[in-house]
Amino acid sequence: GGELGLVATPIGNLGDLSQRAAEYLKASDAIACEDSRITIRLLQHLGIKKPLLSYHDHNADEMRPKLIDRVTRGEKIALVSDAGTPLISDPGFKLVREMAAQGLRVTALPGPSAPVMALILSGLPTDRFLFLGFLDAKSAARRSELEEVAALRASLILFETAPRLVTALSDLRAVLGDRPAAVARELTKMFEEVRRGSLQELLDHYTQAGPPKGEIVIVIGPPLADAGPSADTLDDALRKALRAMR
Ligand code: SAM
Repeated sequence: GGELGLVATPIGNLGDLSQRAAEYLKASDAIACEDSRITIRLLQHLGIKKPLLSYHDHNADEMRPKLIDRVTRGEKIALVSDAGTPLISDPGFKLVREMAAQGLRVTALPGPSAPVMALILSGLPTDRFLFLGFLDAKSAARRSELEEVAALRASLILFETAPRLVTALSDLRAVLGDRPAAVARELTKMFEEVRRGSLQELLDHYTQAGPPKGEIVIVIGPPLADAGPSADTLDDALRKALRAMR
């Protein structure tokens, strides 16, 4: 019968594609992907050729019924993203939801994922974590997103672009306080780097050094047990108290 396979692909180092993932791609009838140029490069490395179907944020609603129809007719379809694990800040969740609702078979070929790799290298607690994906690009919206999760006793994982790293660290520092954190860059690649320090230390470093190159994951530790409220939280409380006194 037909099947959808969610196939994790490398996040930089081609050696990280699992043997089972490679065999699944070879055995599939077609591969749904985001950017066909990137997927073609991976398939060339594996020495295979497959029909590619594009499935990305802008055509997903239109493509979903077509993919479901293929699987219903007995085809084996692989879903890959440009890098890492599909559905993790990448397309695919609605496809899985609909296929599952229709009783179609869905499986996964697990593998690399930048947020999990960054977390385990961060040296921060791994027992409870919250993945936030990309925060809003605008500072005010980003701060209110962070306020929503500031009190959670969990490590936080988020993606950021290199040009926005310094302003992001400054917002994190202001809203979450000076927690231990890590900036993970270029994971699995030649210039892999994990810089660990408090948010203030990281902010000072990247303010001095300028934005680093490459792809970035930020990990922040849970609130410090004995830390008081952050300066912003105190400001808020003070403003509210003053308003109440008027
Ligand atoms: N689905 C992917 C995964 O499982 O890793 C994540 C896709 S998301 C659209 C892309 C973001 O992941 C990048 O902007 C970057 O923040 C992070 N990322 C991907 N590859 C990375 C790497 N090699 N090193 C550090 N961060 C990476």
